[in-house]
Amino acid sequence: MRFLAFFAAAFALSVPMVSFAQKTPKFPVEKYTLENGLQVVLSQDKTLPIVGVVVAYHVGSRNEVKTRTGFAHLFEHLMFQGSANVPKAGHFKFIENAGGEFQGTTRSEITTYEDQVPAEKLPLALWLEADRMKSLAVNATNFKNQKDVVKEEKRLRLDNVAYALANAKLQSLSYTNFSNQHLPIGSMEDLDAVDLAYVQSFYKAYYKPNNAVLVVTGDFDIPVVKDLIIKHFGSIAKGEDPPKTDTTEPAQVKQRSATVTDPFATVPGIFMAWEAPGIKSPDMEPTELLMQMVFAQDAKRAAAEIGAGENWILSISAGLDAQTGPSRALLSLIHRPDVKRKTLVDEVFVQLDRVKEELPSKEEVENVKREFLAAKYRSDVEPLVQRALGLAEYSLQYGDPSEYYKSFERYAAVTPEQIQAVAKKYFKKESSSILYVRGKDQKEEDEE
Ligand SMILES: [Zn+2]
Repeated sequence: MRFLAFFAAAFALSVPMVSFAQKTPKFPVEKYTLENGLQVVLSQDKTLPIVGVVVAYHVGSRNEVKTRTGFAHLFEHLMFQGSANVPKAGHFKFIENAGGEFQGTTRSEITTYEDQVPAEKLPLALWLEADRMKSLAVNATNFKNQKDVVKEEKRLRLDNVAYALANAKLQSLSYTNFSNQHLPIGSMEDLDAVDLAYVQSFYKAYYKPNNAVLVVTGDFDIPVVKDLIIKHFGSIAKGEDPPKTDTTEPAQVKQRSATVTDPFATVPGIFMAWEAPGIKSPDMEPTELLMQMVFAQDAKRAAAEIGAGENWILSISAGLDAQTGPSRALLSLIHRPDVKRKTLVDEVFVQLDRVKEELPSKEEVENVKREFLAAKYRSDVEPLVQRALGLAEYSLQYGDPSEYYKSFERYAAVTPEQIQAVAKKYFKKESSSILYVRGKDQKEEDEE
C-alpha cells in the first residue's frame, strides 16, 4: 500500500487550465464520540447510492523515533493481513467482490484506511474495519512477509526512481527534529532489527478506538448507520492514551543547502522548502494560494517569466505540506542542464520579492482561487472517499471535521493583501532550504 512522501503530500492536487465555477461544499456534518473514545463523523449526501468509509489512526511517520522507523507504514500493510474473523487478504476480496475500492495510506501524522462501496454494502465495510481495529493478526509470519513486501516497495518507488532521493534528502535538510526528517518508508535495517514484541507493542500503543476517527460519507440512513457503528465498534476496548512524540522544530535562522547526484536523473533539479503555516493557522489558505499563483505548473508567473521563451524550466511544481506540527511550502524545478542553478534560485526569489513589493491584482487572485478551488472540489470533495479523508484529517489534525468544509470558504475569501502578507512573513531566504540535484551526467564545474 502506499505512503505519501514529502513532495507527494503537497501535490495531491493538480490545477487545471480550464476555469470552473467556484464551489464550496454544502453537506451536513455530525460528529460524536463513542464511550471507547472512537470519534465518529457522518456526512450524508444521497446524490449517488455509494458510501465512503475512512478509518484514520492518529499515528504516522512522525511518531517514529531513531532506530525504529518504518513501523507506521509496515502496520498499514499488516492491516490487510487478516484479523479474528477476516482471512488473510480477505479485505481485498470482500471489497472487490462487493464492487468497491480500497486503499491504505501512511502519512506523516495519520494513517488512513479508505473504502468506497455501494451503499447497501456499508455493513460489510464497517464490519471489516472494526474487526481489524479489534483483533489484527500481528504474528511472526505476517510480519516477515510484509517486511519483504515493504522492501520491494522501497526498491520500486524510491531506490530506482529519478528525484525520489531528492525528496528524502530535502526533508532531512529542511527539518532538524528526527521525527520530521525521515520518510514513512523508513529504514529497512530498523525493520530488520526489531522483534515481534515491538511490532505488537506498536499496535497496542496506537491502533485503538481512542486514537482514531471513523468517517462515513454518502448515501445512508443516519439511525441505521449509528446502530451499525455501535454494533461493530461499540465493544472494542478503549486503550491507554497513546505516547506523545515531540515534533517541535526550532525556528530556522539560516538558509541551508546541499547537493546530491541522482543516478536516475537525466537533467538537474532544484528542490526547495520554506517554513510554512500548518493546518490550524489562518495563514494556511493564503500560503497555499501564493504557491499556486507564483509557482504551480501552468501558473502565470514563474513558468512564464523565468527564462521566458527559452525553456529554462522543464517542469515546475509547488504546494504546501500543511500538518498539525511543523509544515513546509515546497517547490521543485527540473531545469535545462546549461542554465546555472544559482541564476534559477535568484529568479525564484525575484518572483517572491515581486509579490512582497507589488500587491497582486484582485483579478489575478480571483483567477487563482477559482481554478484552485474547482480542482480541489473535483479531487477532494466529489469522490466520497476523498471527502471522508478530508473530514478525517480535520477531525484528528484540526480538532473539528466541519472545519474541512469551512476551509473552502476561507480559500474563497483570501485577499491580495493576505497573499502579500504571507509572502513577507514566510518566504525569506533564511527560512529556506535548497537541495540541488545533479543529473547523472552533470559535472560540478558546469554548475556555478
Ligand atoms: Zn506500502
